[in-house]
Amino acid sequence: MSLLTIGTVAFDDIQTPFGHAERVIGGAATYIAVSASYFLQDIKLVSVVGGDFPSTELDYLRSRGVNLDGLQIKQDEKSFFWAGKYRDDLNTRDTLATELNVLADFNPVVPSHYKNADFVMLGNLTPAVQKQVIEQFPQRPKLIALDTMNFWISSALDDLKEVLGMVDVLIINDEEARQLTDEYSLVKAARVIHAMGPRYLVIKKGEHGALLFYNSDEDPASDQIFFAPALPLAEVFDPTGAGDTFAGGFIGYLAKTGDLSFGNMKRAVIYGSAMASFCVEAFSLDRLKELNEDAIQQRVDRFVKLVNFDINRAPSAL
Ligand code: AMP
Repeated sequence: MSLLTIGTVAFDDIQTPFGHAERVIGGAATYIAVSASYFLQDIKLVSVVGGDFPSTELDYLRSRGVNLDGLQIKQDEKSFFWAGKYRDDLNTRDTLATELNVLADFNPVVPSHYKNADFVMLGNLTPAVQKQVIEQFPQRPKLIALDTMNFWISSALDDLKEVLGMVDVLIINDEEARQLTDEYSLVKAARVIHAMGPRYLVIKKGEHGALLFYNSDEDPASDQIFFAPALPLAEVFDPTGAGDTFAGGFIGYLAKTGDLSFGNMKRAVIYGSAMASFCVEAFSLDRLKELNEDAIQQRVDRFVKLVNFDINRAPSAL
């Protein structure tokens, strides 16, 4: 199955307690595409960069099987730029700068040979642009997932709510779920988000793992919740891109298997979490670039071991 993704392709400036990475490669679509490329070859990317974006990085994406026919290059403009600083706990970050640059008047064009994509991952980007991409499909893809962030919840809430009504899966973090719904309880927040449109919801909780919610309109008794841990890591170097890397692994695994059962969604959450656990081990895409199938499978095995236990159900056990 094939995957289309949109999102930023960007320069980042990142400060963590361990160092400062200036003007490194980032962006939601970049992380999604690289992460998904470990599962799939047929990835179609829609985005925009300025003439300042290094062609070597575009060559790298192509070498991972990412088709860039949908990437607009505006020679006389600057690429999207984001600067952030993490607090000591590495779970909280402050945005220091968001320069939209080429994104300010981005008009996404989905090439005709992209329009047969079965899976769509709408990475973090202007909600109105996410919507424009969905509208260009002649028929609805098999699954549409969407990621967003606090910046868009504060600045484009109406557009965001409109696009949420058009997607199957929303992937956000706990803070964003609370901001979007005004509910502190994540279970209540999930109900509000389901009412906005998405049947599936993934709420990422940083070092505390992720929750997957499924809401069945027909039969509330079939509603389901799954919890996946995050791997306890001794060294978390830079969390930037972890959410997008999760999304890329999640949708990449679903697109590879083509199975949308809840059981398979759970496996997709584990693959996404495994990919995210690599991302945080180095700045930018550095760690993701050096992965292979064995390393990914070994990490997934560590997740399985982490949550695997036997319970003695004999009455004497209580
Ligand atoms: P994550 O850490 O997964 O939330 O994603 C971080 C990436 O998102 C960085 O590489 C940034 O370039 C990109 N980013 C930051 N702010 C925005 C925004 N407002 N819209 C889209 N992408 C953004």
